[in-house]
Amino acid sequence: MNKIINDFLAEIDNRNSHEPEFMQAVKEVSEDLIPYIVSQNIYHGKNILMRMVEPERVVMFRVNWIDDNGEIRVNRGYRVEMNSAIGPYKGGLRFHPSVNLSILKFLAFEQVFKNSLTTLPMGGGKGGADFDPKNKSDGEVMRFCQSFMTELFRHIGPNTDIPAGDIGVGGREIGYLFGQYKRLKNEFTGVLTGKGVSWGGSLIRPEATGYGTVYFAEDMLNHISDSIKGKTVTISGSGNVAQYAAEKCLHLGAKVLTMSDSSGYIYDKEGINEEKLKYIMDIKNVKRGRISEYVNKYPKAEFIKGKKPWDVKCDVALPSATQNEVNYTDAKTLIKNGCICVAEGANMPCDHDAIKQFKDNKILFAPGKASNAGGVAVSGLEMAQNSLRYSWTRDEVDEKLKEIMVKIHKKCLKYGQDKDYVDYGKGANISSFIKVADAMLAQGVV
Ligand code: NDP
Repeated sequence: MNKIINDFLAEIDNRNSHEPEFMQAVKEVSEDLIPYIVSQNIYHGKNILMRMVEPERVVMFRVNWIDDNGEIRVNRGYRVEMNSAIGPYKGGLRFHPSVNLSILKFLAFEQVFKNSLTTLPMGGGKGGADFDPKNKSDGEVMRFCQSFMTELFRHIGPNTDIPAGDIGVGGREIGYLFGQYKRLKNEFTGVLTGKGVSWGGSLIRPEATGYGTVYFAEDMLNHISDSIKGKTVTISGSGNVAQYAAEKCLHLGAKVLTMSDSSGYIYDKEGINEEKLKYIMDIKNVKRGRISEYVNKYPKAEFIKGKKPWDVKCDVALPSATQNEVNYTDAKTLIKNGCICVAEGANMPCDHDAIKQFKDNKILFAPGKASNAGGVAVSGLEMAQNSLRYSWTRDEVDEKLKEIMVKIHKKCLKYGQDKDYVDYGKGANISSFIKVADAMLAQGVV
């Protein structure tokens, strides 16, 4: 079996050797899927995984814009349309200087499996630009978004490809992007999700990824007759996912000890309560400042510069910032300090060696494609509400989100339960693969 997996990966590597993040995501999925495919006559010999790793389409384009000093700036925009077997392409846009094709292909590939898990009819895609919204004025961000959409609009549509937010793309950016799409197409449609509630957005969409991650952690803990109540939690990031993961932890009676950004982390021994979390939301969402400012207001807390929060003793860890932020050493430290549950709020925050440590030590481990799927699930619900021209209440959407997370948990158990341990990665990979593969087979070689 190892030879089949290695031969497959060598062939993919030949074509994509300059794309390390994409290869990492393909490797992680292939190790679970190839043994399963080989054991199933309907999939074996159809080159189905080979077809899944090749994007259906990649668009790459120049984005020119003018900064506040009148200088002309040039960025690079992308949209990776990975797989549309079970629905139109769906996935976020990331604006961050690190954005490149490898990162977007890894995210789009993961998105295909994640969207399949949600039970909703959505294919997978991802896009973005190497633009950094940090330290830019609202006017600069608006001009960039308008220029970006002036090319992207011809490739997307409410029945074709429906982007959303991701790192660096929040409510402000979605607003500017939507405004430009509307102007260019002269139509008001659900072409983006994450919209403002008064213009087609869904209640609970901003909260959905973070809430969903904590619901999933709770489902995993309930499965071993435990719960998150009273547990200590370390969270990385202080953006959209991290903020609402923290909020849901507080709702469920857990104690949040850390949050971070790319400059370091804050450690509050007394716990980040609702009032302190509001302050963080104000720093990050309104003032667009740094997490280090927290200790000015709460001097009993510490700011640890340039470090990640995984040295802090905790029961549950929710990495919610970015890819590869938990490595082998971090995983060893978490396990040594008694952590029993890791749920990925971000996409691929734990690297291959870290995941192996969690599995070898039988720590509950949820891959992002399962635990952070609540965000895209509520995006799917936003699309449904746009089609119905109707809005569900906050409680209705939250109930649907909880139900979806329970369903994802059950799907993971179906293919991941092994005697005394659930391999959630394997469960998520196989279960999501089946739906997409069956649709691809039914639709022929296209
Ligand atoms: P935001 O832009 O709102 O926040 C990102 C956070 O991560 C910020 O605190 C940022 O710090 C930090 N961060 C970003 N890059 C790095 C880095 N290289 N090192 C350390 N910290 C970093 O993004 P989101 O919260 O939306 O996204 C976070 C993760 O969750 C991403 O992996 C994303 O793909 C994933 N995700 C998001 C979904 C959503 O609905 N938004 C859905 C599913 C997954 P700083 O402010 O310093 O940049």
